[in-house]
Amino acid sequence: MSQHVVIVGGGIAGLATAYFLQKEATAQGLDITLTLVEREAQLGGKIVTDIAGEFVVEGGPDSFITQKPWALQLCRELGLADRLIGTNDMQRSVYVLRNGRLRKMPDGMLLIVPTRFMPFVTSDLLSWRAKLRMGLDLFIRPRRDPADESLANFIRRRLGQEALDVLAEPMMAGIHVADPETLSLQATFPRFVEIERRYGSLTRGMIAARRVARANGRDARTTTFMTLRGGLQELVGALAHTIRAEIRLGTRVTRLAATPAGGYRLLLDDSVMLEADAVVLATPAYVSADLLRHTAPELATKLDAIRYVSTATVSLGYNADEFEHPLDGFGFVVPRHEQARLLACTWTSTKFPQRAAPGTVLLRAFVGGPRREGLVALDDDALVGLVREELRAIMGVSARPTLARVFRWHRSNPQYEVGHLDRVDEIEALAPTGLYLTGSAYRGVGIPDCVRQGQETAAAVARYLAGQYVSRILPSEDMTHHAD
Ligand SMILES: Cc1cc2nc3c(=O)[nH]c(=O)nc-3n(C[C@H](O)[C@H](O)[C@H](O)COP(=O)(O)OP(=O)(O)OC[C@H]3O[C@@H](n4cnc5c(N)ncnc54)[C@H](O)[C@@H]3O)c2cc1C
Repeated sequence: MSQHVVIVGGGIAGLATAYFLQKEATAQGLDITLTLVEREAQLGGKIVTDIAGEFVVEGGPDSFITQKPWALQLCRELGLADRLIGTNDMQRSVYVLRNGRLRKMPDGMLLIVPTRFMPFVTSDLLSWRAKLRMGLDLFIRPRRDPADESLANFIRRRLGQEALDVLAEPMMAGIHVADPETLSLQATFPRFVEIERRYGSLTRGMIAARRVARANGRDARTTTFMTLRGGLQELVGALAHTIRAEIRLGTRVTRLAATPAGGYRLLLDDSVMLEADAVVLATPAYVSADLLRHTAPELATKLDAIRYVSTATVSLGYNADEFEHPLDGFGFVVPRHEQARLLACTWTSTKFPQRAAPGTVLLRAFVGGPRREGLVALDDDALVGLVREELRAIMGVSARPTLARVFRWHRSNPQYEVGHLDRVDEIEALAPTGLYLTGSAYRGVGIPDCVRQGQETAAAVARYLAGQYVSRILPSEDMTHHAD
């Protein structure tokens, strides 16, 4: 008899789980039927692409990192290889707002670590004091304590306060829309922990990493970030096309209960009841907590401890001949000590020229985050007005946009606080048999990590169901006999 798996949440993690579970079932000869329940009217979760005339506007993620290979591999596996596009690395500079002015990150920076001497020492981004302090990284002894620490602590220790304020906070904590003072280093930048342990210095480790990358001669077509020509929604579309599951859109799971037979019963908001042999919750941690409040209260409390913050993206399109500022980079980031109300702004039509027609410009500003969450509640006109004011102050742009799109992301960014990985270990240990938690709340927020988690969850579900199947067809005595 077929075994039934219900996946709750049709974001990238839920979709990847469904896709890989289907593959596992085929490979292992398991008879599994799948139901995927998604609250919204469309699949994709945070992945939302809006094709607005000749602009390709991403509401949530705009690309994925290729050093973590899982998203890239999945795109290729789904036949999307010729849809992949890389960044325009001819103009890959990033600017940082410093004392109200945009200043270029020096060439040769690997994330925030200088690997080339001259561009770094001649840059006007950091003071002399800060540069000298960053140089001390070569001599400061590595930390031996294996306990987790905050990103801020780590950067202050190795590179100093100014490197934290001007570089690490907007560039690294910014990726996680998080406060560096509480952000877990081990959960977000484990590579830095490893580099310090191995090389005793970030600078030495990054220079070595650069040499290895050069020696390996990376495929020139694979840039650090990649995306799909028609937007990341193409990945969602390809997954939806490939997955053989009953997909229930516009439907919310409202209750979850364990059954005496060892399975689960899920109540949907259209009053339908689903019976499942296994359940995957690919929902935000606070949604999973609500669903598990009665079945697994201790687990629910742990899930509640994962905090979220809200953000909004505001995309503006312009005619290039009315646009007053050069766009020779991927955009700029805003350190928290600056007066500006933006977190960052991507110069989308430079980073991915295919996102806008020739003769037009597309920008995307980020608003909200841990210090200015209230701004997300502004209405569309107010948010667009705010972004325009900021762009006027920072870039001198007064041109009138021909396009404006606002996307609000309430409680969207999970905060990986110090000790996060221990918390996730505890969460996984508390999950009842046959129930799985996956997605951006746990072991990586980026799309590649969500794909990997979906793949790992699918393998775990398949193992569980294979075991269930054996124990169901063989009475327990026979099992003992077999084990002998
Ligand atoms: C503005 C923004 C920009 C980002 N940029 C990037 C980027 O450039 N690159 C990158 O790699 N990552 C980026 N990220 C992060 C990445 O997009 C997300 O971490 C990832 O898409 C989350 O996937 P997920 O499947 O875990 O969760 P989600 O996409 O949140 O999916 C969860 C799904 O569960 C559904 N759901 C919730 N409750 C219920 C219920 N009760 N019943 C049924 N369904 C329910 C939701 O509707 C949702 O579809 C960005 C995130 C944001 C917000």
